Amino acid sequence: MAHLLIVEDDELLRDGLSAQLMQAGHRIDTAADGQQALQLLQTVLFDGVVLDLGLPKVDGLTVLRTLRQRLPALPVLILTARDGVEDRVAGLNAGADDYLTKPFNLDELRARLQSMLRRASLPAFGNTTTTRGAGVGQLRLDPQLPRAWLGDEAIDLTQREWALLDLLVRHSGQVVSREDVLEAWQSDPGEPGTVASNALEVYVHRLRRKLAGAPLNIRNVRGLGYMLETTAA
Ligand code: CA
Repeated sequence: MAHLLIVEDDELLRDGLSAQLMQAGHRIDTAADGQQALQLLQTVLFDGVVLDLGLPKVDGLTVLRTLRQRLPALPVLILTARDGVEDRVAGLNAGADDYLTKPFNLDELRARLQSMLRRASLPAFGNTTTTRGAGVGQLRLDPQLPRAWLGDEAIDLTQREWALLDLLVRHSGQVVSREDVLEAWQSDPGEPGTVASNALEVYVHRLRRKLAGAPLNIRNVRGLGYMLETTAA
């Protein structure tokens, strides 16, 4: 059971989602606009958030950016319009862990949520066969939380960023293919095989920004994939 916040201005959809997720055993709070969502997020400790991007009063992206400042590891799944590619990229850039495009299947939403919550709560997320806490140079991946340490400076990551960086670190100096990354993201049995073709680029871009202070470079090896290399300090 998880305590979830559903932020959706469409009343029918909001009620439908609440009913489904309550039936699945979760505890649900709802907000009909961004302002209400931010108020709830300040007073209640949620395990996860389902966040529509098109919202009255305060839009979903602003809600996401605001909550990320205070709650970097809170799992957030965003809901976007089918033609909202830019919204989707902006949402992932602002720290969403996953997204669904409307209209979506409720079973898929449930599966994605389960998988997102499991990743967030289990220290063994994503990799039971390898040792957590891999590192390169001064960079160490936190084995318990989705974050990395650069020396004694913490870098907060989303679950998917963590999984991507873990893969790059464990294969540093080698090319990691797009397929390797998608496989790692999907190795979780609850994770349906639907990662947008441009999602990986978005995540790499985000990781590069977060690692800007590190003597590390994520190199784009054209046509092959990505490689983590150390740069001269
Ligand atoms: Ca909406």
